[in-house]
Amino acid sequence: MADFIRSFAWVFVGSIIAGFLIAYFDAHFRRPSHSDTTDAILYPRSKLLRSAAFIVFAIWATFAVFILLITLNGMGVLHSPSLFEGSIVTLAGLCLLYIALASTLRCQQCGKHLIIQWIEAPEFADRIKGLDGWASILLRVSRRKPFQCMYCGQHYLP
Ligand SMILES: [Zn+2]
Repeated sequence: MADFIRSFAWVFVGSIIAGFLIAYFDAHFRRPSHSDTTDAILYPRSKLLRSAAFIVFAIWATFAVFILLITLNGMGVLHSPSLFEGSIVTLAGLCLLYIALASTLRCQQCGKHLIIQWIEAPEFADRIKGLDGWASILLRVSRRKPFQCMYCGQHYLP
């Protein structure tokens, strides 16, 4: 049973290392960016933004595993408390990591948190594929698309 927690710990550490490696390679081998928005400025900490996007994808994946474990347990197929605990610990760790990272990423123009949505409907929230606010910013960042601050509308290049 301890093997499950150990493997979750490895996945957790591995995903963080992978995130930083991706951010490193992105920073050194990025393709030249262009934008059709005239007032867009290059966001200076875009590799941290991309790391945050990666963490959110990891949170969704871990959450999917968590739901799968509950389902399998409910069906009586798999009963593994340690695997269950491992997924909760991983989920909590990833959420804390996201909050820590997101709290350092602010808009250059208005100073508000770029990927923490404090209000329900920010004025400049961009809607894309059913996502808006912070989620649409992270989706755009992960695809290297220009995005805008949901609070003041400042355009950025990732
Ligand atoms: Zn702003």
